[in-house]
Amino acid sequence: MDYLPLFFKLTHQKVLLVGGGNIALRKAKLLCRAGAHVTVISHKVCDDLQDLLDENQGTAIVGEYHAALLDDKILVIAATDDNPLNERVHFDAVERNIPVNVVDSPKLCTFVFPAIVDRSPVVIGISSGGSAPVLARLLRARLETWIPKSYGKLASIANHFRDQVKETFSTVNHRRVFWENVLQGQIAEKVFAGRDEEAARMIADKLANEDPEHQVGEVYLVGGGPGDPELLTFKALRLMQQADVVLYDALVSPEVLDLCRRDADLIFVGKKRDNHAVPQEGINELLVKHAKLGQRVVRLKGGDPFVFGRGGEELQTLKEHNIPFQVVPGITAASACSTFAGIPLTHRNYAQSVKFVTGQLKNRTTDLNFNELVHPNQTVVFYMGLHTLPKLAAKMIEHGKPASTPAAIISRGTSADQKVLTGTLDTLPQLQEEAKLPAPALIIVGEVVELHENLSWFGEEVLAQNLTPVKAEP
Ligand code: SAH
Repeated sequence: MDYLPLFFKLTHQKVLLVGGGNIALRKAKLLCRAGAHVTVISHKVCDDLQDLLDENQGTAIVGEYHAALLDDKILVIAATDDNPLNERVHFDAVERNIPVNVVDSPKLCTFVFPAIVDRSPVVIGISSGGSAPVLARLLRARLETWIPKSYGKLASIANHFRDQVKETFSTVNHRRVFWENVLQGQIAEKVFAGRDEEAARMIADKLANEDPEHQVGEVYLVGGGPGDPELLTFKALRLMQQADVVLYDALVSPEVLDLCRRDADLIFVGKKRDNHAVPQEGINELLVKHAKLGQRVVRLKGGDPFVFGRGGEELQTLKEHNIPFQVVPGITAASACSTFAGIPLTHRNYAQSVKFVTGQLKNRTTDLNFNELVHPNQTVVFYMGLHTLPKLAAKMIEHGKPASTPAAIISRGTSADQKVLTGTLDTLPQLQEEAKLPAPALIIVGEVVELHENLSWFGEEVLAQNLTPVKAEP
């Protein structure tokens, strides 16, 4: 280890910053955030830096650097493009045993600035010892996405209870288990959901009657998006990584499922058309059962749980049993498929509104209001419409939508085998008859489909002209 990570308390401490440009400004911002009193010495001090110093009891001296400026300082940073000057600052500081950092010159540094993830009072510093700062920054970006913004708040609340926890639990082990439960369980989730007071109350309750045997778990109804794991939300991923049990649908892709906690129990409760693996009531019961065992249950659904997902029904059951829950939105198929097919759902010249409609027709008779679906300047997106496409298209034409209205099928949107088939209301059913694009598939009807030709950027096309077999010459 070339550098020992230490955290330096700078509140009200005097720091010298040599340089007055943008790089100096960046360093000054960090120093001010840590509460330092910064003195800047430079021939020129940029306006933003001057403002920052004015706001933070700093001082700007316009002039020549000289060693005496170091006399009352505990830290020095040189941020100039004048190499001889940087070297002088380095040697002067070393001579006085003052830690020094020269920006972009690891050899002239006795300390380095790490890349920082700031969740004060929790702060993470990442350093490559000056050898690959970009790598440290990339790592930081990863951590930023993994650590919720409200982690700092969680630490503050925990701090509030620290002494009490020490009094209640005599052994380090018991305290550790208690904090592990608090910091990654329901209570932490309350803080992340902005319910600090409730979280504090729960910690107090937990301390008063700690009885790990009889805790109620929590259910997270999570939207797993359309299939591509990169389209998950950070929140979805975090909860998936905490789950004790995951109940998932057929639409959840293996890649997404793979991101659940390694030792979580994965239970398939998928429904295929007309073939229910577990009936809805069974799913509701399973959720209640696992939550009552004190487990953290992720109910993972394709797309968004509140768009044709029956998410609301599952929550009603939980509510009846007083089981706490949270809902995490996901990217719904209409958004995902339209973007990945280069078909904007609205467009100034073509459509000012969009309708999401189920194409599933109860008892094979349609209960959709087709009069509404045929309005001009509107995009209609059919979910679950692949098998009823001929009927849907015929009904739309029957209710006055021009047969020439562009329409598209997007099959397995966002996956490696996404396929897009375009035609018109008139031709699409026949084209699909030949192409046999597999489910899940979404149907988009409207002028916006025309934009696909220009804006397509992902996956394979299914070219209509190749579908009709060429007749052999007589
Ligand atoms: N809650 C889901 C929708 C569930 S209904 C969501 O918000 O996306 C199931 C229908 O969604 C499928 O019949 C299909 O029409 C559509 N669908 C879901 N994922 C899809 C995908 N990757 N590609 C195309 N259509 C998809």
